[in-house]
Formats: sequence, C-alpha cells, structure tokens
Amino acid sequence: MNQLSLINGFNSRGRSAPPASLQTGAHTYLDKRVTKSQIENKRTRSQRARERIQTKGHLTRLAVGLGEVELGDKIDRCHSRLSVLTCGRHIARIIPNYTCEFRLCPDCGRRRSRRLQSKYLPMMSAFMLYNRVTPVHLVLTQTHRAETRKQSIGRIKDAFTRLQRRVFWNEHFKGGTWSLEFTKDKNGLHHTHLHIIGFRRKFFDIELLRGEWLAATGDSHVLHLKPILDIATGLQEVVKYVSKPLDIRRFGAGDLREFLGLKNMRMFGTFGEFRDFCKNFEPSDNDAACGELESLSRDLVEGCACPQCDAPLFDLRMSKNELPQFYEQIEASSPDRVRKRAH
Ligand SMILES: [Zn+2]
Ligand SMILES: [Zn+2]
Repeated sequence: MNQLSLINGFNSRGRSAPPASLQTGAHTYLDKRVTKSQIENKRTRSQRARERIQTKGHLTRLAVGLGEVELGDKIDRCHSRLSVLTCGRHIARIIPNYTCEFRLCPDCGRRRSRRLQSKYLPMMSAFMLYNRVTPVHLVLTQTHRAETRKQSIGRIKDAFTRLQRRVFWNEHFKGGTWSLEFTKDKNGLHHTHLHIIGFRRKFFDIELLRGEWLAATGDSHVLHLKPILDIATGLQEVVKYVSKPLDIRRFGAGDLREFLGLKNMRMFGTFGEFRDFCKNFEPSDNDAACGELESLSRDLVEGCACPQCDAPLFDLRMSKNELPQFYEQIEASSPDRVRKRAH
C-alpha cells in the first residue's frame, strides 16, 4: 500500500467511530459537570493559537523577571518560525524551527499529549478487549490546605497509593492511567486533582467509592465519575492536563519559581495491571494503525497530496504571529472541513 492510500484508508475508517466492542453503555450516575476540555473544544483553532502566543509571552516575561533569561529565550524562540504544509484549505503539517520542551510551554505540551495518545491508545484498546473491562474517568480531589504545590501533589498521590491498596479498589478496578491537574483558588490555596482513566471490572455504587476515598485521604470524599464512551476521546481529555496542568495566564512569578522546583515531578503515569500490560505490550499490525496518523503526517512533504482533499501541498513559511490569521482564513473558507485533530 502506498502512503496516500494508507492515509485515505485511515481517514475513511475515522478516529471518532471506534468498533462497537470498545463502546460502553450509559450509566446512571453520569456527571454533568462541564469539563475544561469541553469548554476548550468550543474555541476555534485561531483563537487557541492566539491564546498560546499570549501564554508564551506571559511565561517569557515571568522567566526573565525571575532572572531565568535562558529559559525565557527558549520559550520565545520555540515555534517562532513555522513551515506550514498546506493545500490552501487544510493544514497537513506544521514544522517549527525550534522546540523548547519546557513543561509549561503550550506548543510543546500539545506535542507531548499527542505522543502520549499515540502510545497509549493501542494499549488501552487491547487491554479493554482482552480483559473485558470498561473505562471510566474518575476525578479525585482533596481538601484545601495551606501548603506548597509540592506538598499538595505529594498528599494526593500518597492518598491514591493508599486507595490502590484497598480491597474494594482491587475488586473493582484493573489498573489505568493517572494525570495531575493543578489549580489555585482566589485565596492562593493549591488544588490538585488526579484525573484517572480506570478500567472497571464491574459496576459499583459511587457512594461506596466515596467512602473508600474518604478512608484513603482521611478527610475528603469529593470525586467525580463518568463513563468513557469512546476511549480515544477519553484519553484525549485526560492527557490534555499533561499539556496544560494549570491556567498559566493567572500564573505569577512565585508560581513559576515553585514550578521550576518541581523539575522531575511526573505528571502522567500508569498503575495496576494496566502498568504491567504496557511493559509487555507488542502492537499487532492492527493496533499499530491506531497510532499511525502521527507518523503518516510526519512523512508528508511539499508536493504530496493533502490527506483531506488530495490537492498538492505547498510549504508556507510564516512567523508564529501570522499563524492565527492563517487559521482564520482557513476557517472562513471551509468552516465545516477544518480538521479536528491537526494543529
Ligand atoms: Zn515549547
Ligand atoms: Zn486539502
């Protein structure tokens, strides 16, 4: 199969319609809470591109203010010049001049979360099929205390470790993934949440889980649980917090200093039997296709056919400040055909 037919084959199969075997039924205690990512999805790509520029400008100024001139310079240079492969109506690929890899950089975070999705989606799908488990999105919260971010993270992670040792947990969950989300309230208290994709063995009463979380934390029973109907979307929602663990626009110099002190803090991980499964997982040809979109778009060069309309791609060079405007042009010309998952 040549590259184009692979791409077309992939598109026609579509990412948004998983096989029926991967879909789970509706449950009674569906959480109606509007998640951060649902709000984000309503904004256009041009708006989001503009926000990323603002966020990076803010981070650069904070870094320079703290005397972290080198870091400020890296963030400023990251994605400052772009090679955009486009047919004029779609963007097939964006190649940046430089990537800073700073954990709070919104451009680098997006790439990191796409890498996580490509890596974990095939493993999750295989794990679910093999073990006949259904995924749920669980958000664990804790009481607010006057403490540092590091203490807040340590406290919730320790409580989660205790939860995993409990009989109830092991009877009902067969492992999963976790990621961290940080927020800060107007009183300056850190709120740390754990977002968990849990592979559920069997149905249970949420009140029992609240009781277990209370036993693990000593003082918190607040959690949210909702079924994941499509694992690709569920994973996408959870890894979003890896690229964007907090609202950086409300971030001050002290927050950045504190964050720089968290250097080796992990933001995403696996647990339980899913963790062992990932260590030994070897993708079959079919599984590999799940993560292939990324590598296919990586092979595209000028002159290739646009994966969405077959028109030839050309290489447009622009600065980061010109990108939102280019998105706007594309949105105006083909509002319904904007590719959801691309840049
Ligand atoms: Zn970056
Ligand atoms: Zn096109």
